Amino acid sequence: MRVLVTGGAGYIGSVAVDSLIAGGHDVAVIDSLYMGHREAVNDAAAFYHVELSDKEAVAGVMKEFRPDSIMHFASHTMVGESMEKPFMYLGENLGNAINLVEAATDNGVERFILSSTANLFDEPERIPISAEEKIVPGSPYGESKYMVERLLHWTHVTKGLRFAALRYFNAAGCSPIRGEDHTPETHLIPLVLQVALGQREKIMIFGGDYDTPDGSCVRDYIHVEDLAQAHVLALEALQEREVLFYNLGNGSGFSVKEVIETAREVTGHAIPAELADRRPGDPATLIADSTKIREELGWTPKYPDLRSIVQSAWDWHNAHPEGYRS
Ligand code: UDP
Repeated sequence: MRVLVTGGAGYIGSVAVDSLIAGGHDVAVIDSLYMGHREAVNDAAAFYHVELSDKEAVAGVMKEFRPDSIMHFASHTMVGESMEKPFMYLGENLGNAINLVEAATDNGVERFILSSTANLFDEPERIPISAEEKIVPGSPYGESKYMVERLLHWTHVTKGLRFAALRYFNAAGCSPIRGEDHTPETHLIPLVLQVALGQREKIMIFGGDYDTPDGSCVRDYIHVEDLAQAHVLALEALQEREVLFYNLGNGSGFSVKEVIETAREVTGHAIPAELADRRPGDPATLIADSTKIREELGWTPKYPDLRSIVQSAWDWHNAHPEGYRS
């Protein structure tokens, strides 16, 4: 297939590009390089340095590359930041998606895969959280992803676009050649590893009074290569199927304190930690029930345990202490 990947220079998108190319697909990347890294893009992919807000440029890419499918990773992705900048998140994440989806349907794209999020489930009735759980976005970030899911719903109804919404829990780990390198970094595992590298004095634990076994937030960490594999499977499934919603996680929850402890074991560093206030927008517990994608598409994560995920991240960060600038 001919797949256009937005955000293909970013953390998850760059690994998905590698998986697509390994699977024999033709790939082009659109990225603003606002957060992404040109060095993270596989040499076999065409690269367009384009902002999704630039409707004409996006349409131009469609006309030149002629994709039949799109994987849409590019967006603002931070829960905490979205609580401070709600209009940026709601406006730009939706506005950019509208530009992309309109250009896609104008130019004959048949399949669309969206990076969605577990932040859709702020008040789950059941944990682990299944794909059928009621949707209550936990932040402007989560709401913006839900709005894009609704955009895809109506584009399916009116234009016949087939789509998959993949709701990731906590993307983590690194492939041997692609890593996690955000500026500023806000995610737990890379920040903990920065302490182990001596780049940061300590890690702050955001909230110690949640209703969880040790009081810190519990998350389901899923390896970035397993996420990439789910995208490729969903792309293939959309040749037969019309609409897919899946939750992607390992099905086990680990607290912030357990992540820090695992990183201490993996790195051999003491990693000082200090309790801090809760971060607005964070639910106490997010654990995925991924039965649906496992049964329907045969998705089987290769990194089912936290230790191997943290080890893969440590391998990359240790080899690239300055990230892609190393
Ligand atoms: N977290 C923390 N200290 C940090 C960064 C994150 O305690 O310096 C917590 C955060 O509050 C959340 C969990 O770690 O409960 C995972 O956060 P992250 O930002 O990695 O992913 P998110 O859950 O927001 O997608």
